[in-house]
Amino acid sequence: MRRVRLLVFNAALGPLDYRVPESMAAEPGSVVIAPLGPRQILGIVWEPERLPASEVPDARLRPLLEALPVPPLREPLRRLIEWTADYYVAPIAAVARMALSSGAALRGGGTVTEYRLSGEEPERLTPQRAAALDALQGEQATIRELAELASVSEGVLRGMVNAGLLEPVTVDIDRPYRHADPDHSLPDLNPDQQSAAGRFVEAVQAAVFSPFLLDGVTGSGKTEAYFEGIAAALRGDRQVLVLMPEIALTENFLARFAARFGAAPVVWHSSLKSTERRRAWRAIAFGDAQVVVGARSALFLPFARLGLIVVDEAHEVSFKQDDGVRYNARDVAVMRARFEGCPAILASATPALESLQMAEAGVYEKLDLPDRFGGAHLPNIRTLDLRETPPERGRWLAPPLVELLRDRLDKGEQSLLFLNRRGYAPLTLCRNCGYRFQCPNCSAWLVEHRLSRRLACHHCGHETPPPETCPECGEPDCLVACGPGVERIADEVAEILPDAQVAVVTSDTVNSPGRAAVFVAQVEAGAIDVIVGTQLVTKGYHFPELTLVGVVDADLGLEGGDLRAAERTYQQIAQVAGRAGRGEKPGEVLIQTRHPEAAVISALAAGDRDAFYSAETEARREAGAPPFGRWAAIIVSSEDEAEARDAARAVGGSAPNLPDVLVLGPAPAPLSLLRGRYRYRLLINARRSTQLQDIIREWLEPLRFPPGVRVGIDIDPYSFV
Ligand SMILES: [Zn+2]
Ligand SMILES: [Zn+2]
Repeated sequence: MRRVRLLVFNAALGPLDYRVPESMAAEPGSVVIAPLGPRQILGIVWEPERLPASEVPDARLRPLLEALPVPPLREPLRRLIEWTADYYVAPIAAVARMALSSGAALRGGGTVTEYRLSGEEPERLTPQRAAALDALQGEQATIRELAELASVSEGVLRGMVNAGLLEPVTVDIDRPYRHADPDHSLPDLNPDQQSAAGRFVEAVQAAVFSPFLLDGVTGSGKTEAYFEGIAAALRGDRQVLVLMPEIALTENFLARFAARFGAAPVVWHSSLKSTERRRAWRAIAFGDAQVVVGARSALFLPFARLGLIVVDEAHEVSFKQDDGVRYNARDVAVMRARFEGCPAILASATPALESLQMAEAGVYEKLDLPDRFGGAHLPNIRTLDLRETPPERGRWLAPPLVELLRDRLDKGEQSLLFLNRRGYAPLTLCRNCGYRFQCPNCSAWLVEHRLSRRLACHHCGHETPPPETCPECGEPDCLVACGPGVERIADEVAEILPDAQVAVVTSDTVNSPGRAAVFVAQVEAGAIDVIVGTQLVTKGYHFPELTLVGVVDADLGLEGGDLRAAERTYQQIAQVAGRAGRGEKPGEVLIQTRHPEAAVISALAAGDRDAFYSAETEARREAGAPPFGRWAAIIVSSEDEAEARDAARAVGGSAPNLPDVLVLGPAPAPLSLLRGRYRYRLLINARRSTQLQDIIREWLEPLRFPPGVRVGIDIDPYSFV
């Protein structure tokens, strides 16, 4: 009799043992359906020696019901799942679930019916149908997805099918993707790019674990260099994963990819339609998808023959996931490459200190691209001391910056203003009584968004229309905006330069690949003179006519207690400065600041990256911060404030008393109320060599909490809110 152990997805159950029926193939990694009481559950067959459970006698084992028609999860992915669960102190089932990220994909092929506009001209239209007709131009999807796209009910669309306005299309759900051709259009690389590309090709051909740090200034052609590694993988019939920090920003990458390889890569992100998700998942698992570009969730996809992993903009904070399994995709990507036995390339113009340290220690091979491609020069960077040269009252742009904007407009060149604050104003209050608009679910101010006419919480998504009267004192039309957001800066530009075409670029306005494409096309066509944007515009874009970058408030990122604040500020401003002067015309950057003497700002102005990194390295070494020491956070939360506080005290009260391990807290989190939950934090600082995870496991294991309490563990935290 054959017996197997299953990893199942119900956190309350441990691993479960089953009998394998005679006719069934079940090996480690197989995805199966098993009986549990009267229900059927999904499971993954796992090596029993790696997944301890209490033994059930043979006679009591129930048989598996079905092995699903997908390839077994391969050993490197199983080891990655185990490693991630262990390192981040997360339930293994929660990690494994990220690998089975399309339920529909687990079933065999077939067809699905999608709908598109038939082109039929209706005689009379209800307003809803008219809106749907508008919204669905060029779209094809299932009724449910179209209803979501058009913001109408499925009933409205069914009516339109009956009226012949929408026509059905039968789609093979597993139709293959177009193949990329490594020789489609060979690049013209400079010597530095060539030598980096050469190393990537060698490493891909050798098919062994080899981590690279590709350190190139903005505009140096890092993408073209690692494309040659991708070409080598394609020639060797191996798959490639390219991780991007934000998938809405990949337009430029997709265009360059298609130009080099003659076909688009497979795209993976959380807003894929379910049929696209299913098709991509299966193509990846069966080895048909050659190159996958994705956000961090792509990291756990079941590749059949992975030959290369690229992490682009590897310094980006958005690779760190802050809920569910709290992992850092950059670090897990390197581990996946280790298990798969393939190279990993971390590409960045402003690498994380941790990555530079790994290169210095000889763990990563560092490849440098010190010059801009095609002879373009790095922009000239200056600071503007707002204490000496303040903006006019009620404005945010100082006169010298306004002059530069005017000059660019006269010359027909483009400018970019950077302020990492969405919306119109970060705080809204009542002019009569001083009432501050606060989120009901979070300890955070509501942010006014004038473009969409709402007050919004950026932490939980709570939204409300701006009230006509103050909820506190009843005064009408009393709202006063405090401080600037990008929308307010855009208004200011429109007042100063009435002829300028201004575009606001944030995750509110450019929130899909389609909208990003429209934005890029407008800038390229010269239809936009001034871009006002958040960190969304700091990376990836390549606009040759953009010659001026203004940083509205360089000090903003330095506020708050984040231990990486200086590094993040340096990275953001260096990245946004890198958008200037990428073509033949030279670029200029003006940084507005009240602290031009701060180490970060003066290093940026002097273009002295080494000075910044060595100052930051010393500060981290002294603070025992990564990469020299380790941090972890324990976040205790509950909807009941007293319950959260008591649970946090219980955790704090049983903290281990160990040399070299410092436990801070519990203290109310800076965001002490988030999505309706009260939060307390403990911070643990330890030596680099400490087995921090084991300490935390032993510490928390004996503790019991009321059912409403959640205890989250964040290893190597990025957010301290
Ligand atoms: Zn009031
Ligand atoms: Zn909120």
